[in-house]
Amino acid sequence: MRKVMAEYIWIDGQKPTAKLRSKMKVLEGEVRSVSELPDWSFDGSSTYQAEGKKSDLLLRPVRYIPNPLRPGTSDILVLCEVMNPDGSPHWSNTRAPLRAVAEKHASEDTWFGMEQEYTLFEGNRPLGWPDKGFPAPQGGYYCGVGSDEVFGRKLVESHAEACLRAGIKLCGTNAEVMPAQWEFQIGPLSPLEMADELWLARWLLYRMGEEYGISATLHPKPVKGDWNGTGCHTNVSTKAMREAGGIKVIEAACEKLRARHEAHIQVYGAHNTERLTGLHETAPINVFRYGVSDRGSSIRIPLGTANDGKGYFEDRRPAANCDPYEVCRIMLETICG
Ligand code: ADP
Ligand code: MN
Ligand code: MN
Ligand code: MN
Ligand code: MN
Repeated sequence: MRKVMAEYIWIDGQKPTAKLRSKMKVLEGEVRSVSELPDWSFDGSSTYQAEGKKSDLLLRPVRYIPNPLRPGTSDILVLCEVMNPDGSPHWSNTRAPLRAVAEKHASEDTWFGMEQEYTLFEGNRPLGWPDKGFPAPQGGYYCGVGSDEVFGRKLVESHAEACLRAGIKLCGTNAEVMPAQWEFQIGPLSPLEMADELWLARWLLYRMGEEYGISATLHPKPVKGDWNGTGCHTNVSTKAMREAGGIKVIEAACEKLRARHEAHIQVYGAHNTERLTGLHETAPINVFRYGVSDRGSSIRIPLGTANDGKGYFEDRRPAANCDPYEVCRIMLETICG
């Protein structure tokens, strides 16, 4: 039987924003369940996760998908949690706390969908931007078409196709307001599935960018000035919100979110102050407000939800570089608590 190349993927301990890491392990044959995947180890002193003296940390496989970049093989991508040598979750492991909270509130049947925005860079400039100066001001780029309007579509489309081929629940993509800025959406899914798939989709985006010499950044304000920042809007619904009278449940959730605004901002991504200015379709970082169809609010209730009297809400505050494990965890704690 052909051996299998398993790319073990994990999240490191960089501050203020953790990054993805991976290394490949050869397995003797095809894998049929996650329990067949062996634990592995890595040098935590090279990933900001341990000191040199006691550097070995464990990689515990928690989900795997076919590697869509290696069609026709049984090769896989393996998402891992980082564990201490004694098997307890490492401090950098934000998935373990989400696992516990999601289990506790499982009966609420909460669905999440995140809109991952990102900016493509070539060298130190956004892709397609002129050597000197700036492109024409924003206005024509959002959902634009044509080589003067959008930059990087080939990568964007290949990435979407790869996600679908791997079984990731990507539900759409669009060109964003700033040129070279794009978005893909994941969901709706349970919190753990959504966050896992978003991290895997991020890994694929970076990996596929290597083929094009293009890098994606999740910095919330990659270009200073009159250019849109980069966010990760988080859409949420509990079962009660999706049923008749759900709008009342959504409004009650918004009041709970108001009471914990600062706590949420703490885990909504580094440098988010640069993005949540009150301009460029945001509310200022120190203000909480919600409203129907209001893209200048912290929480937007989509028009469809208001009209139907049930549905979901959108938290517009998370930055593109947020950790979806942390965002989903605090959201569940606040609205289901
Ligand atoms: P926007 O109009 O804000 O740009 P998008 O179409 O980009 O919206 O994204 C909508 C997101 O909402 C997607 O991630 C989708 O999975 C998610 N979503 C749709 N329905 C629900 C729901 N009932 N509960 C939670 N999330 C949902
Ligand atoms: Mn070595
Ligand atoms: Mn969107
Ligand atoms: Mn967007
Ligand atoms: Mn949105």
